[in-house]
Amino acid sequence: MSELTATQLLRLQATGKATAAEIADAFLDTYRTREPKLKAFVSLDEAAIREQAAAVDAKRAAGKPLGKLAGVPVAVKDVLCTKGVTTTCASKILKNFVPPYDAHVVERLRAEDAILFGKTNMDEFAMGSSTENSAFQTTRNPWDTDRIPGGSSGGSAACVAGCQAPLSLGTDTGGSIRQPAALCGIVGMKPTYGRVSRYGLIAFASSLDQVGPFAHDVTDAALMLEVISGHDKRDSTCVNQSVPEYRKTLNDPVKGLRIGVPREFFDKGLDSEIESSVRAALKEYEKQGATLVDVSLPHSKYALAAYYIVAPAEASSNLARFDGMHYGHRTAQKADLIGTYAKSRGEGFGKEVQRRIMIGTYVLSSGYKDAYYVKALKVRRLVKKDYDDAFATCDVVMGPTTPTAAFKAGEKSDDPLAMYLSDVYTVSCNLAGIPGLSMPCGFTKAGLPIGLQLLGKPFDEEKLLRIARMYEAATDWHTRRPKV
Ligand code: GLN
Repeated sequence: MSELTATQLLRLQATGKATAAEIADAFLDTYRTREPKLKAFVSLDEAAIREQAAAVDAKRAAGKPLGKLAGVPVAVKDVLCTKGVTTTCASKILKNFVPPYDAHVVERLRAEDAILFGKTNMDEFAMGSSTENSAFQTTRNPWDTDRIPGGSSGGSAACVAGCQAPLSLGTDTGGSIRQPAALCGIVGMKPTYGRVSRYGLIAFASSLDQVGPFAHDVTDAALMLEVISGHDKRDSTCVNQSVPEYRKTLNDPVKGLRIGVPREFFDKGLDSEIESSVRAALKEYEKQGATLVDVSLPHSKYALAAYYIVAPAEASSNLARFDGMHYGHRTAQKADLIGTYAKSRGEGFGKEVQRRIMIGTYVLSSGYKDAYYVKALKVRRLVKKDYDDAFATCDVVMGPTTPTAAFKAGEKSDDPLAMYLSDVYTVSCNLAGIPGLSMPCGFTKAGLPIGLQLLGKPFDEEKLLRIARMYEAATDWHTRRPKV
């Protein structure tokens, strides 16, 4: 049962073939047997899960209307606030933080009768590409437990790929949904900036962060997006625009589809096995009548550099609130006010977070802000313009999600620049604010998943999902499950 999709689990309950309690038990079984190997979760409360499932079954028995995710377990990245449940950001500084409120997206899950199924591991404060920056544990890739699942939402990706939960939520600031989805062989989607409320999402880089789904297939991703999208006045960047019922049009292929293939996404850093799987996927689209259009994103070569200025700059400001006074861990050492701040932060933040705070503070400092921060914002505008120009000639931009398949734990952990390069194809999407999706499109000879990235026009998630579904309907990658 735990290999099923959310849509299949909903059908089982609607036809009386399974109860929410039975479904919860099946996933708890898989969780228990696999968690020692995968380490996908930071916390999980079995009793609370059973209670929620029983409540859904009681509601059904009483003939009350049920929500869109009734009885479906959903795991939540530990960067999203959950009322009464510890929310750590996988950081020592927030180890004991219990939020007094739910994030908007968590409220939406509860309103649709989802079963909140644990909090997932991540890189500390969502900074990283492998989950090795978690203060607690390194999550493993279900396809090969010597390897990392990607990051920063590695726990959310691994638990879905490893069938510990059928759906999960992650966050994507520079690729943290799409990259782990690609490395774990599942679907992951970053909505348009402003599509989903960030209320209750502990901020990394506020102008880039978005919440989005992980799922086995495009239908489940569309379902989750319907639930979490929409206006919320508590996030002033959340757009007041109606949310389409994505699943209604999902199986309508896009006629006359034009696919932009950026030459910059097929450069020398790209692994040859990834390239051939992505090219084969493009062929499949051509078979279905799509035309490939050669497009150029000339500023994409500067995107990674711009991202690693803008994101740390915003992070250094956002993380200033964790000082041992307002929030979080306070040092036991005796010190004056500034000393208490410094010691608390020194003890509470890991190495990568400290590195980002230093980079961010540096690029914002009065002597350097024009040379770095302001320059990076100009590059960001040009990256966005590249996409505007590309979308004048195509409906979607396609390419690889990652330059390589999942790497071994420890392989890049001492080399921040090598780690940052994992995001080379994903960061421009966040800088431009456009929606992006990664879906499985093959495996390497070693049996590691490969991801195809689809990038769309702002607020055109409906079309992006339809385009993704066209490929999925013709292939069976999304039906594979790893033997853990
Ligand atoms: N890997 C990127 C970083 O470390 C992206 C992280 C993210 O999207 N949260 O910043």
